[in-house]
Amino acid sequence: MTKESKRVAIPGERLGVEEEYVPGKGVYVENGELYSKAYGEVDVDAQGKRIDVRSSKNVTVPEVGDLVEAVIEGMKEDSARVRIMVIRGKRSLTGDFEGVLHVSQIAKSYVESIFDAVNMNDRILARVVTSWPPFQLSTADDDLGVIYSTCTKCGEELVLRKGGLFCRRDKIFERKKISRSYLLKEA
Ligand SMILES: [Zn+2]
Repeated sequence: MTKESKRVAIPGERLGVEEEYVPGKGVYVENGELYSKAYGEVDVDAQGKRIDVRSSKNVTVPEVGDLVEAVIEGMKEDSARVRIMVIRGKRSLTGDFEGVLHVSQIAKSYVESIFDAVNMNDRILARVVTSWPPFQLSTADDDLGVIYSTCTKCGEELVLRKGGLFCRRDKIFERKKISRSYLLKEA
């Protein structure tokens, strides 16, 4: 018998339907479909009935509770789509991961519009809330939120001034959910 090289699944990858397979380890079911929870080799048992994904230790993927840096890539009415770039304190990520920041996860207090908190290309520090893509993120804690941003009018870097984000060229403040670790503080 020849040993074939096994297929590697990424988290969130669709593996099959519940009518055909039993979800094993590293597999979750949503709307009758099976998805991989992990990065790892896909293993279908001898009868072809059960699917497992053996998660590999050699990959770095976002996990619940991780602190991540992400860039806002899309804005909708109630959520922002982000690209997760870095996990703080861990090795480089294996591949690209999408995340979602929902308006309800921005702050502990009520935020009416997501546009009052983040905007396109902002870099944010956030915590991972779910364990499969698109990863849900939260910026509710004080140390979380926007860590780098540019002016929506002129593109100049915004600096932290008196607790707000300020464009020195336009002399205006922009409304954001600012992290305590915002990178550019006015001297
Ligand atoms: Zn400006």
